Amino acid sequence: MKIQENISLKAFNTFGIDVKAKFFAEVESKNDIIEALTFAKTAKKPILILGGGSNVLFTSDLDALVLKVNIRGIEPISQDKDKVILAAGAGEMWHDFVLYSIENNLSGIENLSLIPGTVGAAPMQNIGAYGVEIKAVFHSLEAIKICSGRTQIFLPADVNFGYRESVFKKSLKGKYIIYKVNFNLSTSHVPNISYGDIQKVLKEMNQAKPTAKNISDAVINIRQSKLPDPKTVGNAGSFFKNPVVPVEVYKKLKQAYPTLPGYPSDASQIKIPAAYLIENVGWKGKKLGKVGVHDKQPLVLVNYGGGKGNDILELSRKIQLDVQTKFNISLEREVNLINDKSLIYP
Ligand SMILES: Cc1cc2nc3c(=O)[nH]c(=O)nc-3n(C[C@H](O)[C@H](O)[C@H](O)COP(=O)(O)OP(=O)(O)OC[C@H]3O[C@@H](n4cnc5c(N)ncnc54)[C@H](O)[C@@H]3O)c2cc1C
Repeated sequence: MKIQENISLKAFNTFGIDVKAKFFAEVESKNDIIEALTFAKTAKKPILILGGGSNVLFTSDLDALVLKVNIRGIEPISQDKDKVILAAGAGEMWHDFVLYSIENNLSGIENLSLIPGTVGAAPMQNIGAYGVEIKAVFHSLEAIKICSGRTQIFLPADVNFGYRESVFKKSLKGKYIIYKVNFNLSTSHVPNISYGDIQKVLKEMNQAKPTAKNISDAVINIRQSKLPDPKTVGNAGSFFKNPVVPVEVYKKLKQAYPTLPGYPSDASQIKIPAAYLIENVGWKGKKLGKVGVHDKQPLVLVNYGGGKGNDILELSRKIQLDVQTKFNISLEREVNLINDKSLIYP
């Protein structure tokens, strides 16, 4: 493992924010992780774990050791008639893992096609799209505790998945390095096509009895038509979560704003699309210097080139304030804010 010094992270985050890491290393094994932890301890530097950098916003240079997790490998660890437990190294790209599962006639994650980033980051925020979250297929994960170097296995009950949440975004934030994730995938395919435009696109594709591959193709098609490609314009997907409010609050808002959409989150709460709120306060397609709000999907904040992390942060705060003032709803950030103060020492 090579430890490099004063490395720009511009190519390592999809917002394309140009900050520097004091130290940077790519880890390819558990041994590399242990070696890196020893280095950071000796150098008295905190650690940032990085996957594909598609859900982070850097707002300062990092006087830290940045570890890019490149641990690879996909293998079945158990198999029966209905189910295969598939293990994947944290550094596998998520979409490649989805395609691998489909090629091997396994189903369960086809709706999550084309989500950027790595397998290791997927449990962090319980990635979700088109009616599926990884919570539904999660078996377990293996991680190293940064402060002790010890290995730990996390089962579903330990991870405490929620909507774009897990224990790793809350009480255990920054404290573990995930190196392997195990998934329960199904050998028989039960299509989940109720969400969004999937049915419409499948019809256009003439697929009345869709396979997992057909659903994956439909999802890819929809995502490519709606979301900006980070290779063309810097972004991290949805910047905010969709707010969830009590039914009574929603009913009152609906009286004042009859077009306000809402979807049951559970028996007593309604999820409101943040995109509607942001568009309604006039931010859709607006620019603020080198950054702005995407003109097709207002939930996505973009860096048109040369924008700083703090420019994006300032824009996000203005949007939060306007939504709070008009709707009395506080928009919560989905993207992880990273600066010198948010990191953990080994
Ligand atoms: C165009 C676009 C579309 C997107 N669409 C979706 C979507 O539909 N649904 C969705 O849920 N998300 C979506 N995202 C967000 C993002 O792709 C996911 O959150 C993804 O899981 C992030 O993976 P990553 O490897 O890039 O994580 P990073 O951005 O590198 O890291 C995210 C966080 O996880 C931590 N982390 C990363 N790897 C590890 C590890 N191995 N061990 C411990 N901690 C780790 C980091 O420290 C950081 O706090 C989208 C992003 C983009 C750019």
